[in-house]
Amino acid sequence: MKKALVCGAGGFIGSHLIKRLKNEGFWVRGVDLKYPEFSETEADDFVIGDLRDSYICRHTVDQRFDEVYQLAADMGGAGFVFTGENDADIMHNSAMINLNILDACQKRNVKHIFYSSSACVYPEYNQEDPDNPKTAEDSTYPAQPDSEYGWEKLFSERLYLAFYRNYGMKVRVARYHNVFGPEGSWNDGREKAPAALCRKIAEKENGGEIEVWGDGRQTRSFLYIDECLEGTLRFMRSDWTGPVNIGSDEMVTIDQLAEKIMDIAGKKVSIRHIPGPLGVRGRSSDNRLVYKMLGWKPTWPLIEGLRKTYPWIEEQVKHL
Ligand code: NAD
Repeated sequence: MKKALVCGAGGFIGSHLIKRLKNEGFWVRGVDLKYPEFSETEADDFVIGDLRDSYICRHTVDQRFDEVYQLAADMGGAGFVFTGENDADIMHNSAMINLNILDACQKRNVKHIFYSSSACVYPEYNQEDPDNPKTAEDSTYPAQPDSEYGWEKLFSERLYLAFYRNYGMKVRVARYHNVFGPEGSWNDGREKAPAALCRKIAEKENGGEIEVWGDGRQTRSFLYIDECLEGTLRFMRSDWTGPVNIGSDEMVTIDQLAEKIMDIAGKKVSIRHIPGPLGVRGRSSDNRLVYKMLGWKPTWPLIEGLRKTYPWIEEQVKHL
């Protein structure tokens, strides 16, 4: 039986990934500071531990896993990443995790490791035009990420690639773009735009008003969790190291995102634009390389993912 280790197993993507790996017949160990918040973990073994501690990492990687997925990070949406208040923790905590996990894997002769980087590595200067952002994988340098979160991801990408070159590890580096779906953060200060807007709209009566940060014309694309996992597993089992974008190329403005959620909710609420932490002006996933290398790219329309996510958040709001 194949064995997998999922770091960040109590988080949004990690907990969904474990369900997929269990369906494929893997024996799975998860590790995180906490258990998943919204459903019981399906991991065979779940270690509650702090991956900033090298001792915990060595004891978690105590056998030859066939696949390791490193998703643990101190992260959140714009309200967490772009205020500047969490910069030291974001950089220190996530870098420590990556340094320790790579070292533990290398010492235990575990070779096959996936690293979840982010679209936040791309330079700010290529994302100023909301209609035409540039996120081709080879446009990363000269580097100018828009946040310390992006700089840490860039450092760690380079760290993984150095272990690939120097220690022959089968590293896979993916850059996720705004992943969303049920059972993700929705009201803890780490939620991202789709969850935050679903919550705000679910909380209002028809005819009410919601607040949106910025002028609402900033653009993004959003990837539904099932497609994120599909891309992750296809890439992990390919012969290629990356880095590669795993994201949607259906770009919408934040106001358009809100309109789509209103349609699903069957409500019309007005939008009041207020100042807030924003990040780059425009961003979407450039999927040319993923398609060329894997013969696959995400195809689900945004509205389909929202149809699955909104009812879950509406339920959470009702039971608050
Ligand atoms: P998440 O915050 O839900 O999950 C991350 C998990 O890491 C959390 O459960 C957290 O408790 C755990 N963690 C943090 N510090 C830890 C520590 N010291 N020891 C052990 N566990 C620790 O985030 P997610 O949305 O599931 O994202 C997973 C990965 O994908 C992250 O690395 C993130 O940076 C990356 N990513 C996500 C997105 C997205 O849109 N969700 C986009 C780009 C990149």
